[in-house]
Amino acid sequence: MRVAAVIVAGGQGTRMGADQPKQLLSIGGRSLLQRSVGLCDHHPAVSEVVVVLPAALLADAGQWIGETRCAARVVAGGPRRQDSVRAGVMAVSSTADVVLVHDAARPFADAALIDRVIAGAAAHGAAIPAIAARDTVKRRDLTTGLVGESVPRAEIWMAQTPQAFRRDVLEVIGPLSAGEREATDESMLAEWAGIPVMIVEGDERNVKITTPEDLTAARGRDVRTPRVGTGYDLHRLVEGRALMLAGIHVPFERGPLGHSDGDVLCHSLTDALLGAAGTGDIGQHFPNTDPAWKGAPGLDLLRRAVAIVDAAGYAPSSADISIILERPKLLPFIASMRQAVAAALGVDLSAVSIKGKTNEGVDAVGRGEAIAAHAVAVLSVRGDA
Ligand code: MG
Repeated sequence: MRVAAVIVAGGQGTRMGADQPKQLLSIGGRSLLQRSVGLCDHHPAVSEVVVVLPAALLADAGQWIGETRCAARVVAGGPRRQDSVRAGVMAVSSTADVVLVHDAARPFADAALIDRVIAGAAAHGAAIPAIAARDTVKRRDLTTGLVGESVPRAEIWMAQTPQAFRRDVLEVIGPLSAGEREATDESMLAEWAGIPVMIVEGDERNVKITTPEDLTAARGRDVRTPRVGTGYDLHRLVEGRALMLAGIHVPFERGPLGHSDGDVLCHSLTDALLGAAGTGDIGQHFPNTDPAWKGAPGLDLLRRAVAIVDAAGYAPSSADISIILERPKLLPFIASMRQAVAAALGVDLSAVSIKGKTNEGVDAVGRGEAIAAHAVAVLSVRGDA
């Protein structure tokens, strides 16, 4: 069975009152969008991901979404939620048997919940996660504004996403979504078509981030103990080598001697990431005795380290690096280095710090004979781990 996921982030999130779309706001160094895409992308049953973005974000989609394991496609959203979903579903390949529709504003859905909706849809055609109402539920009379009646609580369930649909069901409900009637979730379309929708157990933690208060609460709740690692690297500086830092070429008359490109920033940060996840060190994964890593770009090793910690269930949250170098001044290059590191880690620019220091003329680094770097990396337990 092939499962595709459509992550809907087509809205502007006007209720947040923030200066950027809601889906780009971050919790623990990763945006709502990255987290929501990540939890689908990393689910073992999912082999394809379609992300629906506002047209204005399409040009830089790669930057907003980050790296994905699955084949990912990006499409522009429509005026209503149901139009965005339809655009996403139409971009799914025809080989998908079940399609998940997930709201980017729910960054905490876990793998077990996704398993339940996939199984529900495979068996029944359509399935949604929902949680039982706990409060007493009243129906309000819209004319008088007073309580009309109490509704039997057992009948009330709060729908969440991802919702899952078998292809034959999507073929029926797709055309309905193009009509005038407004559906606030996809299962409403199935209801209109008379298609039974199965309810599977939702999750209280699978909250929808709608207001600034929701975001604050979610940031406070994301308190699973982070993992911290440190890294250190030093290379001798010699003539005839290019000085590379975070893959950026810094013009200078000397560069680091080494089997690889001697990018101390990437090497120290690679060790910090591997250390934080308890997954060994750079020498173990990329030995300098192995010709495969001769001249290897540091940024490439860093990306591989991100994949290693990812496989161990961790996602980078933030990094802080100090580069110790007597000359040249690094300030003009810091912004591009931060951008390169943020892209490799899949985090916001604000989660990456890079500082240049001199060694005040003291020892080999101070005499300009070597370049060194210290790095600290913080990893969060990945949402789906
Ligand atoms: Mg090194």
